[in-house]
Amino acid sequence: MKPMGTIPAAFQGSPDLMIGGKPAAAWVAAAGDTPLFVYDFGIIAARIAQLRAAMPAGLGVHYAVKANPFPPLVAAIAPLVDGIDIASAGELALVRAQATTVPISFAGPGKRDDELEAAIRANVTINLESKGEAARALAIAERVGAPPCLAVRVNPDFELRGSGMRMGGRASPFGVDVARVPALVRLIRDAGADWRGFHIFAGSQALDTAAIIDTQAQTLALAGRLADAIGAVPPLVNLGGGFGIPYFPGDAEVDVEAIGTALGDAMTSLPNGLSGSRFALELGRWLVGEAGVYLTRVIDRKESQGETFIVTDGGLHHQLAATGNFGTVVRRNYPVAVVGKLGLAPEETVSIVGCLCTPLDRLADRVALPRGAVGDVIAVFMAGAYGLTASPAAFLGHPAPQQVLAGYADKD
Ligand SMILES: *Cc1c(COP(=O)(O)O)cnc(C)c1O
Repeated sequence: MKPMGTIPAAFQGSPDLMIGGKPAAAWVAAAGDTPLFVYDFGIIAARIAQLRAAMPAGLGVHYAVKANPFPPLVAAIAPLVDGIDIASAGELALVRAQATTVPISFAGPGKRDDELEAAIRANVTINLESKGEAARALAIAERVGAPPCLAVRVNPDFELRGSGMRMGGRASPFGVDVARVPALVRLIRDAGADWRGFHIFAGSQALDTAAIIDTQAQTLALAGRLADAIGAVPPLVNLGGGFGIPYFPGDAEVDVEAIGTALGDAMTSLPNGLSGSRFALELGRWLVGEAGVYLTRVIDRKESQGETFIVTDGGLHHQLAATGNFGTVVRRNYPVAVVGKLGLAPEETVSIVGCLCTPLDRLADRVALPRGAVGDVIAVFMAGAYGLTASPAAFLGHPAPQQVLAGYADKD
């Protein structure tokens, strides 16, 4: 038997698994079929409220839409945040179709000319990843006759300790090395661009509160040094994010109240070069990850060499991360439950596998659960971020899952 992660508190309490005020079975019935992702918007709104209460007043909260670009979710979250971060022209079109007024910023290496042009025409802030990209953006802006909004993404000279994906302190396709930043900012200002400031993103999926606090302090100090070197105040310093969520056994929640207190303290003694700057966090998984549940039906049960397998109609083509194949080094179990028996005593040890012909397709490895019979629904938690759109949906030709936004007044 192997341990699994903890079911988010908001979903504990009823064996039937209540999502947005309705039992999971009702969502399955309304959708007509499994597999199905249900995102509980009440949880997302509560997270944003908790974050705002914890953080210093005036700190911007941005949503990194790649975490979950489900259009109704984007439409619902946009009024609650100060900005949306995109990573492609596809995401730009998606966001603009859902939210017409929210400020947008665009990061990511390899932005094509047509993407830069779409961003410039839409007045989106482009977080520049290189000098070459700056030159292309300036040339495109000249051609279309619009001064571009440009920020410089900095490749920080430190990393976010303990983060699942480190993005700083090393050679990187992301951002501009610190020593090259002042000259690049001067170049874009001299060219008449609207310089929006810095974007400094040092890592992702960090659960170590002290490391996040330390990284934010280093980020402010770095932004201050760069501002001094440039001789101008950055209008916005995007501090990145990196707040993780507890997927696995032994993981703990990030202490956002402690982070907010430390950031508030740091902001009372800002470097001179940042007086007048605004600041923002950009978060993806922390805002939406715990709100999602993937529901998949048991198609078969089988015994093999002393092990019991529960075979479902879902799998890694929809929820790759739960199978341990999206950026994890050691496979560990996400929290899972049998719908109708959530919280009841375990009766058997089973492995839950998906319907794909590959041994990679394992949603849970030797976990203790109440009995899940053919026809029962299995819930895989922590499915709100990097789920469907971070999975190889075309692999093996199964149909796409449905997605539902629950707990959102206009959409139920
Ligand atoms: C992916 C990404 C994020 C969001 O990361 P999470 O771990 O989901 O919070 C934020 N900013 C940038 C630049 C990113 O690439």
